[in-house]
Amino acid sequence: MVRSSRTDRLFLYLGLIFSLALAAGPAIISWNDLSEVEEDLPAYGFYKIRGLRYAYAEVVTVGTVLDALVAGAAGPDGMAILRRAANDLHNRFEVFQVHASPTRTDAFVALQGLAGDVQARLTGLLEGGRPVRRDTIQPIIEANDRLLDALSAYVLEIEVGTDRAINRQQAEMGKLKVKVVVSIAILSVLAMGVLVLLVSHRRHHAQMATALNQDVLTGLPNRRAFTNWMDEPVERGRHVLAVIDLDDFKTVNDRYGHAAGDRLLKAVSAWLRAELPAGAKAARWGGDEFVAAWPCGDKTRAEILQCMAAANAHPIRVTVDQDDIDGQLSGGLAIWPDDGPTLADVLLKADLALYEGKDLGKRRIVMFEPAIKTRRDAVDRTRAGLRRALADEQMHLLWQPQVDLVTGRMVGAEGLIRWTNPDTGEAMQPGEFIAIAERSDLIVEIDCMVLETACRTIAKWLETGASPPRLSVNISARHFQRSTLARTVADVLNRHKIPSGFLELEITEGVFLADNAAVRANLADFAAMGIRLALDDFGTGYSNIAYMTRMRPAMLKIDRSFLRETDAAARSKIIGSMLRLAHSIGVETLVEGVETEADLAFLKDLGCRFVQGFLFARPMPAEDLLPWRDAFERPVRAVREPMLPDARRIGARSSAKI
Ligand code: C2E
Ligand code: MG
Ligand code: MG
Repeated sequence: MVRSSRTDRLFLYLGLIFSLALAAGPAIISWNDLSEVEEDLPAYGFYKIRGLRYAYAEVVTVGTVLDALVAGAAGPDGMAILRRAANDLHNRFEVFQVHASPTRTDAFVALQGLAGDVQARLTGLLEGGRPVRRDTIQPIIEANDRLLDALSAYVLEIEVGTDRAINRQQAEMGKLKVKVVVSIAILSVLAMGVLVLLVSHRRHHAQMATALNQDVLTGLPNRRAFTNWMDEPVERGRHVLAVIDLDDFKTVNDRYGHAAGDRLLKAVSAWLRAELPAGAKAARWGGDEFVAAWPCGDKTRAEILQCMAAANAHPIRVTVDQDDIDGQLSGGLAIWPDDGPTLADVLLKADLALYEGKDLGKRRIVMFEPAIKTRRDAVDRTRAGLRRALADEQMHLLWQPQVDLVTGRMVGAEGLIRWTNPDTGEAMQPGEFIAIAERSDLIVEIDCMVLETACRTIAKWLETGASPPRLSVNISARHFQRSTLARTVADVLNRHKIPSGFLELEITEGVFLADNAAVRANLADFAAMGIRLALDDFGTGYSNIAYMTRMRPAMLKIDRSFLRETDAAARSKIIGSMLRLAHSIGVETLVEGVETEADLAFLKDLGCRFVQGFLFARPMPAEDLLPWRDAFERPVRAVREPMLPDARRIGARSSAKI
């Protein structure tokens, strides 16, 4: 703001200087013109005319006295009266002489000569002591008449000159007026221009300020505005800081398009406006993340959490092409100053709470507590450790056999990653660190490392002349949603020169949550390359039949959790229906987690053909796998019979039953 008003002022000053410069030119010219006109002021002419008129009167008086003397009507004081008149005439011409214009015209010079002549004659008459006679006075009367005529002519000349001066002055004044009007007009136009520029600059500035501080899509303040608000040095009471995030927003974008995603974001901003307490300040932080803050007085943390959880139960729904899209929010809350010295610190705590909630499952609002920080720090450490583990090749693969109950043979083996954290010395469970890796591109690196290991292992077996089993590797959903995956797999196979039939990729339904072009392209490429896909952990996710038909997996892997179902009837129904479903669309099935003979008997009874579990083997190093296979298949080869007496019956029954 400070910078903007400075700019405005500078702008104004420049505008004024410019206007003054432009206006000053004509004004100065006009002033000069005015001075020139003043020199020729007609008042001077009037002054001269007045003096001449006095002179004229004196000459007439002299003439009258002379006429009276000639007519003998002047009386005894006639000469005295003439002397006075001659004196007055003399004085008048003296004054006239002094004030005469510096530019002496011919008429003026002639007038002076005539005046001198009359005065000389009068002096001669008055001083000569001659008798007053007609013949001595008559020449004076004639000289006086000539003076009178010359005076008249001179007055006329002055009057004409004065008239001309008046006309010229009026013309100059007219021009001056035009110049003044033009100057004023220029000044006004410039002032208007400056005003318009100033207004538009201010409007532009206001728009810039809005654009800088407002999120265009939702109209909410943006990250910058919220950060500025947090940095404001003002007194504040206790405040809740919230970080709110749309669950699976990427999926909405991928499936329904970005326009639908935008509508959902707007719906979230409407939800924030409607559901947050009065006085709340909400902002879009970026992407699908929003932040908010509101004063909470002395409310307890439990009360605050409860309010927000209740608000989160209210639906956020947009309809796209008759499909209802339900937005789900996860949120983290923290309290200032209870949880940190500054609002920014507390916002970070709210962020930690958000991620804690996301890990626990979605659509959750979580209030920060110190244990969360401890856990999140552990997650960060694990992530850092994973990065090092990948660089230092600390991770390795174990292989768990997959068994065909019909033939009694090992059909393949699944690669399962193992990592012992050198910092803590403890063996990390894949369930733990894979979940952490899946939240970043670390999982892509892990997948690549596993693919490389599997192909290298197969290549080594092929080199030694062994008949390798098919190796299955788990590929994360995140990686499968990348268009580069099929190319990566093809490159690894080519590099190790192994046929694609030796490799199987296990993916989960999570892959299909983002129905994007990359997923479809990968599916098509793998089909073209002849690479088998297995749908892992079936039954734990959406178990969407549409995914199965779209993906056409070679194998459906039924999650081990179903075997742990304690209600025998329910277990039988669930696993039985999954086996039937897969069979109906011609997909093989494998049940994971077979731990006991009872599990095996149960599965055999249901007509399940492929199994994997501790009953047969725990995950083992690659070098143990072929010896294990030999040992496992020996009885089959020895009696040329399936390992299990009723295996053939199972296969027969399964096709009859399912
Ligand atoms: P999954 O792909 O479903 O792997 C099967 C899990 O079941 C493995 O756990 C395996 O050790 C375990 N298991 C096998 N038989 C039995 C049994 O009879 N009883 C019991 N209780 N468990 C059995 P693990 O190795 O802990 O792996 C857990 C999950 O971690 C895997 O589930 C998979 O989702 C993921 N994972 C493991 N290795 C990798 C990998 O290399 N890449 C990726 N992306 N994920 C992996
Ligand atoms: Mg698996
Ligand atoms: Mg599984």
